Amino acid sequence: MSSVHDALEDARLTYEQHMRACRQCHADAAPCAVAKHLLRIYNNVRRDRMRSLGRQVPTV
Ligand SMILES: [Zn+2]
Repeated sequence: MSSVHDALEDARLTYEQHMRACRQCHADAAPCAVAKHLLRIYNNVRRDRMRSLGRQVPTV
C-alpha cells in the first residue's frame, strides 16, 4: 500500500487542476487564495513524506 504517495499525488493533481481551471489565477498571473491553500496542503504532505522517508534511511 502506498497511501502516502497517493495523498501526495492527489494534492499535486488537485493543485494543478485548479491552476488550469481557475480564472482568477490566470487573470492575476498570481495564485489566488484557493491556490495558495492547495499549495500549502501539497507542501505539508510532501514535507511529511520527506520526514518519514528520512527516518527510514540509515544515517550511518
Ligand atoms: Zn485560483
